[in-house]
Amino acid sequence: MGASRKTAGTKLANAILFPVVGLVMLAIAFSVVLIAYTSQSADIAALNSERNLLRGGAKLQLDLLAKEQEGTAVWDQAFFYTRPNSLNRAWIDTNIGRWMLANHGHDQTVIVGVDGEPVYDFNRGNEHDPALAKPMLEEIKPLIARVRARFINSFRRLPSGLFVVERPRTGFTRSINETGFTLKDGRPAFVSVTAISPELKQFLAERQPPAVLVSIKQLDPVRLAALAERSGTRDLRVSHDRPAEEIAASLALSDPRGRTIGYLTWQSENPGAQILAGVSPMLFFLATTIAGLTGLVLFYTRQNTRRLAESEARAQHAALHDSLTGLANRDFFAARFRDELSDWHSGKGLVGVIYIDLDHFKDINDTLGHAAGDEVIREAARRLRVLAPDNATLARISGDEFALLLPGAADRSRIEAVLKRMQDRFSVPMYVAGNHLHISLSVGAAIAPHDSLSMGELLRKADIALYSAKSAGRGRWAFFDASMEEHVRTRENLAHGLREAIRNNRLDLVYQPQTTIDGAKVLSVEALLRWTDPEMGPVSPAVFVPIAEETGLIYDLGLYVLRRACRDAAAWPHLGVAVNVSPTQFRHPRFIDDVRNTLAESGFEPTRLEIEVTETVFADDDSGILDTLTRVQELGVRVALDDFGIGYSSLSYLRRFPFDTLKIDRSFIADLDVAPHAHAILSTIIDLGEALGMKVVAEGIETSQQAAILQRTNCDRLQGYFLCRPVPPSEVPAAERRLAAGDPAPRPSISLSA
Ligand code: C2E
Ligand code: MG
Ligand code: MG
Repeated sequence: MGASRKTAGTKLANAILFPVVGLVMLAIAFSVVLIAYTSQSADIAALNSERNLLRGGAKLQLDLLAKEQEGTAVWDQAFFYTRPNSLNRAWIDTNIGRWMLANHGHDQTVIVGVDGEPVYDFNRGNEHDPALAKPMLEEIKPLIARVRARFINSFRRLPSGLFVVERPRTGFTRSINETGFTLKDGRPAFVSVTAISPELKQFLAERQPPAVLVSIKQLDPVRLAALAERSGTRDLRVSHDRPAEEIAASLALSDPRGRTIGYLTWQSENPGAQILAGVSPMLFFLATTIAGLTGLVLFYTRQNTRRLAESEARAQHAALHDSLTGLANRDFFAARFRDELSDWHSGKGLVGVIYIDLDHFKDINDTLGHAAGDEVIREAARRLRVLAPDNATLARISGDEFALLLPGAADRSRIEAVLKRMQDRFSVPMYVAGNHLHISLSVGAAIAPHDSLSMGELLRKADIALYSAKSAGRGRWAFFDASMEEHVRTRENLAHGLREAIRNNRLDLVYQPQTTIDGAKVLSVEALLRWTDPEMGPVSPAVFVPIAEETGLIYDLGLYVLRRACRDAAAWPHLGVAVNVSPTQFRHPRFIDDVRNTLAESGFEPTRLEIEVTETVFADDDSGILDTLTRVQELGVRVALDDFGIGYSSLSYLRRFPFDTLKIDRSFIADLDVAPHAHAILSTIIDLGEALGMKVVAEGIETSQQAAILQRTNCDRLQGYFLCRPVPPSEVPAAERRLAAGDPAPRPSISLSA
C-alpha cells in the first residue's frame, strides 16, 4: 500500500512538474530562437541598407562621371568639331581626350559620331584607331542608343519651322546622359555616355542624331576607397567571380545589357550577430541558471513529494493499525470484513469471525503495571500473528481484545483447528517483567454464512459467543449458537423488567443482621435488594445487579437503596446499616455528593452507615478510587471490603487503603466443611484483617459448626442464614429479640435469598 501511495504521490508531482519544466525549457528555447531571429533580421536589414548605401555611392560616382563629361559635352565647339562635316580629331584629342585624362583621370574617352560609328578613341593615354573601341561600344550599346534617342526626342520645333535642342532643366546635369557599368580590361568600370550638344540655343533646320561622348573610369582601388568611404562600407572589394554563398554582403554589377560583370563585396557590420555575440554568454548563463534552478526545484519537489507520500503512507498505516502491536485496528478489520462479505459466494468457503480475549488481563495490569500489561499484549499479538493463517486478518480491537477474520475455511473444523492451536500456544507461560504468566484465552466465534452474512450480526454473535465462553469459565472457546442468543434475550428482558420495577417502585429491601461473635447481639444490618418481577418471579440481585451495571440503571438503583436504607434504619437507631455499592456506582462523579445529601436529607448519623465495596472496584487502575474511598471516610461513613479473598489476587490496595471492615467471602466458610486447610486459611485471613486494624466479618454462616469454629477465632462479627436470613425492615426488631433470646434461626421468612 505504501508503495502504491508513493507512486501516486510521485505521479501527481510529475504531472505538475514536468509540464512546468517543459514550459520553462520551451520559454528558454523560444527566447533563444527569438533572439537569433531578431539578430538575423537585424543583419538582413543592415545588409540591405549597406547595399542601398553602396548603390547610392556608386550612383553618385556615376553621376560625378556624367557631371565631369558635362563641361565638355555641352559645348558649342565640341558640338561643331564632332559633326561629320567639321570633324576635327586634333581638336578632339587636345580638348577632349587628353583634357579628360588630365583633369578627371578618365581611363578611356571615345567619341561616337552622328552616324553611330566611333570617330575618336583615347585609351591608356594614347589615341587609337577608333575601330578598336567597337567591341567596348558594342557592350554599352543600350546606353548609347538611349542617349541618342533621348537627344532626338529633345528637339522642339519652333513656329519658324526650325528646331532647337531642349536639354533637361532639372536633375544634376544639364546634359542628356546615361551611366552604367562595363568591363574594361576584364575589370568592372564606370561608364557614362553623354550626348554632345550645343551649349547655347542653336537653331537647326532639322532633327539630327548626336555625337556622343563615352567616358570610362576604371574601378581602381582609389575609386573603390572613395566609394567605400561615401557608402560607409568596410573592406570593399571588386571581384570578377561570384562570391561564395556565405558571403552575403555582395552587390552584383550588371552591364547595360543586364549581364553580371562582377561583384562588390564588403564586410557587413552584422549588428545582429554582434548583439548575439554580446548577449550569448549572458543568455547561456541565464539558461543554465534557469535550468539549474528548475532542476533544483524538481529535485526538492520530488524529494518533498516522496517525503509527503511516505508520511502519508505512515499516517495511513497509523490510521489503520494499532500502535502497540502493529496489528490492524478496528477500522481496518471492519473494512476487510466488509470486503470479504460483500462478494461472498458459496465457492469462497466459510468466513469465521473470532473474538479473542485475554483472561484476567486487568489483574496483570494492576499487579505488574501498565508496561508489563503492554508487553503481555505485544507477546499475545506475536503469538496470534504466528498462528493466524496467511489469508487471515488479525486485529486488536480494544485493550485486551483481538479479532481474527478467517476467510475461505472449507468447514468449521478448520476454524476449530486454528482456535485449538491458539489455545495450545497460550498454555505456554509468558515471561514478562520477571514473572512467568499463565494467560489463557477466551474465544467466541461466529461463522458466515451460517450465522449471518451481515457484518454487524456476525460481530454481535461472535461477541455473544465470547461472553458465553467467559461465563462458562474462561480459557475456552465457543461457537455462537441460538441458545446463547436466548440468554442474551433473557438479559435484555431482565433489563427491561428492572427498568419498569424501578419506575413502579417494585423493589424492596431486606436486612440481614450482623451479630457479635456469640450470635446474641445484633450490631448492624446489611441492606439487600429484592426484586420480584410479575412474570419472571423473584430475581436474585446477583443476577440483576450486573445487568443494572451494564445497562446504566445501577446509579438510580443505588441511590434508591441508599435512601430507603436510611429511611428504614430510622426505626433502629442503635444499629449500624451496611449498604452494598457496585463499582460503577462508586465511580460515579456524583457519588460522594449523593451520599452526603442523602445523609443530610434523612438526618442519618454518618457513623452508622457502612458502604460495602468489592475488590472489583480496583479492577480498573484508577487512582480516583482511593480518593473516593478517603472522601467517603471523611464524611464519617465507614467502608467495608466485601467478599474478600476471591477473584483478585493483589493485596496491595489493602495496605494502601484503611478499610474499616473486612468481610470474608462466604466460600471460605463453606470450605470449612470440605477443605482440609480451610480452617488455617480462614485464621490467616482473620489475622491479616486484625493486623491491619480492621473489623473482620464472616458471612455465610449456615451451620452451628461453622459458627462454633469462628467463635474460636478472632473474628469480630458473624452473618449468615444460621443466625438470621435477610428479613423485611418490619421484622428486624423481632429478629433482634429472637437472637438475644438465643433461638436458632427459624425457617426462612423470606424465600428469596440468594
Ligand atoms: P453480598 O453483599 O455478599 O451479600 C450477601 C449475600 O449472601 C446476599 O445474597 C445474602 O442473602 C447471602 N447470604 C447471607 N447469608 C447466607 C448464607 O448463610 N448462605 C448463603 N448461601 N448465602 C447467604 P443476595 O441478597 O442474593 O445478594 C447477592 C449479592 O448481590 C450481594 O452479595 C451483593 O453483592 C449484591 N447486592 C445485593 N443487594 C445489593 C444492593 O442493594 N446494591 C448492590 N450494589 N448490590 C447488592
Ligand atoms: Mg454485601
Ligand atoms: Mg458478601
